[in-house]
Amino acid sequence: MPSSPIADCKSKEFSILSHAVENTNEAFVTIDRFHKVYVFNRAAEKIFGYSREEVIGRDLGVIMSPECSRNHRGAVKRYVETRVPRRIGHETEITATRKSGDTFPASISFSVTEVDGEPYFTAIVRDLTETKTLQEKIAAAERLAALGQVVAEIAHEIKNPLMIIGGLAGQLLRVSEGSKTREKLGIISEEVNRLEGLISEIREYYTPRQMSNAAVDLADMFRRITEPLEDRFNSAGILLEVSIAEEARWVQGDRERLKQVFLNLVKNALEAMRNGGTLKISARADEDMVEIRIADEGGGISEKDKERLFTPFFTTKTKGTGLGLCVVKRIVEEHRNGSVSVESEGGKGTVFIVRLTHSPAPSE
Ligand code: ADP
Ligand code: MG
Repeated sequence: MPSSPIADCKSKEFSILSHAVENTNEAFVTIDRFHKVYVFNRAAEKIFGYSREEVIGRDLGVIMSPECSRNHRGAVKRYVETRVPRRIGHETEITATRKSGDTFPASISFSVTEVDGEPYFTAIVRDLTETKTLQEKIAAAERLAALGQVVAEIAHEIKNPLMIIGGLAGQLLRVSEGSKTREKLGIISEEVNRLEGLISEIREYYTPRQMSNAAVDLADMFRRITEPLEDRFNSAGILLEVSIAEEARWVQGDRERLKQVFLNLVKNALEAMRNGGTLKISARADEDMVEIRIADEGGGISEKDKERLFTPFFTTKTKGTGLGLCVVKRIVEEHRNGSVSVESEGGKGTVFIVRLTHSPAPSE
């Protein structure tokens, strides 16, 4: 007689379930009313750090602290006497202990099964370490984003009055005659300028922005960046060499923001080459990426400073903001496959290397 589909499935149910229990990520620990362990699956071995041989057939107390074990026995006893489930069916979060003594956050739920009139209690334990770490990271990122928003708003509020102060100081400077007064007004203008620079970098760093994506012409961009700085190059005795390979001329990205990136790098190079030298800007194609190198002959960066280069407000300059490279990193990494790195040997100059995705030249 052919067996019914249900009977057919039922016949396999036991072995399917025991395999499932064996292979799941949740620890399954089953005990009887005397606290003797019957089931200790592979995940339980991994999570708690005990092998089956150490646990199965023994008292559950071997994997618990004495106090925990006492409470647990109490709960089992209470259930056996009253048959009223208190914890059974609920999921609770606990701090569990591994064999190594380390504790970890876990979620635990209990079920009870009667076999031949005897109750068996199964605890299903999930290790929440990774979930918790992830949740903490997300919460930290959200806090940072909220903080960034506030900083950007404050920067915005400071910007307008600052512009007014700077403008008025400039006007007064033009009409005032006393040399002491002029000197003081000059200082006000200079400091206001510096603060304006700081405020605009802070806004650049903290304001969340949509990126545009276009074909950006590097040759044109470096021309626009370096032309206004020509006087400064000349007076510092800096020779500029720009070589953009034709096949590396176009990259994908946000033109204005990339200009900000390279302007910051060129300014840093300029500020590093106090004794003149050659500033080499080059771009070459590397498969579907373009590698742009800004190589200066300045004083270089020490190993110690290198680690802190991209952290906000790290500066070695008396009037620096320490935000330039943070902005560079943020913008470059917001580009597809974008990266920035630095090579520098103390005293031998510095090379900043920016990698961006190549773009075909736009058709005319
Ligand atoms: P800032 O220029 O305002 O100091 P940045 O974030 O642009 O801030 O740079 C941080 C620090 O990194 C600088 O103060 C300097 O010590 C170092 N640095 C950056 N670029 C160079 C470079 N080309 N050569 C030497 N040091 C550099
Ligand atoms: Mg800078």
